[in-house]
Amino acid sequence: MHPENFEITYNMKVLKFGGTSVGSPENMRAVIDIIADGEQKLVVLSAMSGTTNALVEIAGYLHKKNKDTASVLIGNLEAKYKKVVDDLYKTEESKKQGLQIVKASFDTLRSFTSGTFTEVGENTIVAQGELISTQLFTVLMTELGYNAKLLPALEFMRIDEDKAADLPSIRKLIQPVIEKAGSAEFYITQGFICLNANGDIDNLQRGGSDYTASLIGAAIDSEEIQIWTDIDGFHNNDPRFVSNTRKIDQLSFLEAAELAYFGAKILHPQTVLPARVQNIPVRLKNTMNPADSGTLITSESDGKGIKAVAAKDGITAIKIRSGRMLMAYGFLKNVFAVFEKYKTPIDMISTSEVAVSLTIDNTKYLNEIQEEIAIFGDVEIDTDMSIVCIVGDIISEEKGFASKVFNALDGIPIRMISYGGSRYNISVLVPTVHKKVTLQAISDKVLNN
Ligand code: ASP
Ligand code: MG
Repeated sequence: MHPENFEITYNMKVLKFGGTSVGSPENMRAVIDIIADGEQKLVVLSAMSGTTNALVEIAGYLHKKNKDTASVLIGNLEAKYKKVVDDLYKTEESKKQGLQIVKASFDTLRSFTSGTFTEVGENTIVAQGELISTQLFTVLMTELGYNAKLLPALEFMRIDEDKAADLPSIRKLIQPVIEKAGSAEFYITQGFICLNANGDIDNLQRGGSDYTASLIGAAIDSEEIQIWTDIDGFHNNDPRFVSNTRKIDQLSFLEAAELAYFGAKILHPQTVLPARVQNIPVRLKNTMNPADSGTLITSESDGKGIKAVAAKDGITAIKIRSGRMLMAYGFLKNVFAVFEKYKTPIDMISTSEVAVSLTIDNTKYLNEIQEEIAIFGDVEIDTDMSIVCIVGDIISEEKGFASKVFNALDGIPIRMISYGGSRYNISVLVPTVHKKVTLQAISDKVLNN
């Protein structure tokens, strides 16, 4: 039996389950088997897998004023959810509640097929995935006799004018929301969605549910943040491109941050930061294999040397060559000011006396940037590049580490190298067509799998 009253432990564990983990009625039940261990917890859910993509597509058609196609897609998605409701619950009462939840969201979606379409409309549309999954899940837990309460993320998740997470506000707002919900064994909330500085519905960008979990973890001083997905944790190489990869048992916050940022798809790149600031362990776990210990991320690094490699695609390299004034002081500042003006982050940089090369992955303002930096010299742009990032505690690696890496990359056309910027990474830029052989070469000759 489940106890009636739970005292609220504000530092409870935060567990996030991704789209696949809640992607079918069967998987949702598997999540309950994982979380129902008698310990109070806060559970963050993504939308059911495929839903956010479908919603983005619907919003895209509404943007293009193609309301007919949008309506067809809305109808298809609704039919899918009606089936989910039918399979998910046993009692008529739960089925009725489930259908009401689905109807409310699809009425919202349909309301956008008339009138003008704005960014707020788009954000409201993509939010429905998490709104539906969390409500359906809470009804399921209740049907099974658990004391589960829904915490509406829009009441406490906040981003500021720059769309950066507003942790002080989240910290201030979440406790009263938990109190209002009252004593429960499980607090269920939406990943991804939030309100922005205008008070409008917004989100933490694709894959942002992980980030929700770590922000909540930091806000409540959680004892542990768990990110549950469908693989065993960080691997030392990309299993999509290299066959012999190994799971990594332990990483430091900084190593994990480098890996997540530079392409390891398992974790949203900003997730590590709030946990690191509060020193909260982050555990990556596999819903399909809960017995596996996963990857534990803490302030400690597990030994020295190279741990892993990851690749990030869609990189654009920009080279600015100037015979005249390149290394005059103020030059780099002026170049960077252009990127700052267009809020475009730079990933890699390398400089010589006559040229500077840098990379970006957000090309929204590439034309404007190109035009403005052209006053500093000749500009050359290369697209379809990948950053291959080798991660570990590298400073203390035995002598010859760099040569080992560069020997392994013999024959691969490297466009840029970054070494020494961080003790935790060495990055090379290669054309994406050469990414796979680069990852394989690191696997065979550096990681020695
Ligand atoms: N549902 C959102 C997405 O697909 C957020 C997430 O799953 O993390 O991007
Ligand atoms: Mg994800």
